[in-house]
Amino acid sequence: MSMFEDIPVDVGVIYEGERVRRNDMYVELGGPKQEHKFELVKAKGLDEIEDEKIIVIGPDIKDMEEGSTHPLGIYVEVAGKDVEEDLEGVIERRIHEYSNYIEGFMHLNQRYDIWLRLNKKSFQKGLNSFDIIGKVLLRLFKSELPFIEKIQITFITDPEKVREMWKETMEIYEARDAKARGMKDEEADAFYGCTLCQSFAPTHCCVITPQRYANCGAISWFDGRASARVDPKGPIFSIDKGECIDPFKGEYTGANAVLKEKTLGEVTQVWLYTAFDYPHTSCGCFEGIAFYIPEVDGLGIVHRAFDGTTVNGLPFSTMADSTAGGRQVDGFHGVSIEYMRSPKFLQVDDGWSRVVWMPSTIKERVKDFIPEEVVDKIATENDVKTVDELKVFLEEKEHPVVERWKAIPAEAVPEMKRKEAPMPTPVSVATVATMPVSVGGFKIILKDAKIHAKKVIIRAAEEEK
Ligand code: SF4
Repeated sequence: MSMFEDIPVDVGVIYEGERVRRNDMYVELGGPKQEHKFELVKAKGLDEIEDEKIIVIGPDIKDMEEGSTHPLGIYVEVAGKDVEEDLEGVIERRIHEYSNYIEGFMHLNQRYDIWLRLNKKSFQKGLNSFDIIGKVLLRLFKSELPFIEKIQITFITDPEKVREMWKETMEIYEARDAKARGMKDEEADAFYGCTLCQSFAPTHCCVITPQRYANCGAISWFDGRASARVDPKGPIFSIDKGECIDPFKGEYTGANAVLKEKTLGEVTQVWLYTAFDYPHTSCGCFEGIAFYIPEVDGLGIVHRAFDGTTVNGLPFSTMADSTAGGRQVDGFHGVSIEYMRSPKFLQVDDGWSRVVWMPSTIKERVKDFIPEEVVDKIATENDVKTVDELKVFLEEKEHPVVERWKAIPAEAVPEMKRKEAPMPTPVSVATVATMPVSVGGFKIILKDAKIHAKKVIIRAAEEEK
């Protein structure tokens, strides 16, 4: 008998990557319309929780109106003799993976950024309660991570309660992130790799070091170490650093070798601390993007929660399409917020001295880590709206990037950094690094292919029946 025989919808890896569009959605939980949302895992003592208990605080799915949006907190408590605090972040990241196994249920992002949708079809099939979702999650957690002996899941939709817990949760994330600060990559005995996002970005592999936090901002070097210890054959594993080829760029023979193996030869070289040449790959879960602004030879930063238009006229979502997919895109670089607090943050590119624009909310969050002499010289959406205004602002403030304009004659700027930044063209061209096509039971992956077609017909799968 299947583990999910009593679940009204199908459950399996084939549903990973399934999107629920607004028109198909029965209900939305978290997401950009909700200020307060979170998911949190806490390690508990074996006698502190009741195994397989599911609690719902606030309206359940069946009490929600079709098309409505709600705040959500997912609080998972786990216990087991091998369960330690360092595993919390890693277990938490699996909520994303396992939720996406549920037919018609979409989970995006992590931590305080979660965005979930349930489609109408699955609701009509009977997926109308958090109790059912909880059952699927706890069964998957226990079968996939056998070191979890007891698990209890609470879904919170009551707005007041979500807000209250959200505050505590933000403090817990901050304490987790602060733990690795002060450690240096050179001193670490190993790095850690993660391929959890390969289901969405087949050539992506995170290299997690003390000073380069994972792109999703959910897995620290300590989390990687704890996970690799309890589940060494799992998607998070230890990377033997090998020889350090270049400490400034952050190039290690061990990281290069692992990248080559895990991306099946697609990526063979990575420089950890740059957005150019051989940058770390970007999946789609990054918390922010560092993007090149050729007109000022500087870098902008935008984070996922920023819903306005950046200084180059593009919103986060458009740039995310150009950055994601597990590629090394020159000048479009996925980053986590914690990496912005690292002393090695884009050091090859001049670090904060090269950053010229960022949203005010994210600047506020990381401002203690921006060198004092630069912090007021970085523009936000409140200072400038266009690149022309940005130029004036930078000159007025004597931003260090202005020196580059004088110091580097145009012909001396490397071709890659001088050319127009690769501008996304969201309307007429779909850009994908790898595109799977199913033919007669075989899956064919087209890599970096350019396809010209007179006409493209996209039909919903059910029309084929
Ligand atoms: S972004 Fe990186 S560390 Fe985070 S889940 Fe994806 S592959 Fe793992």
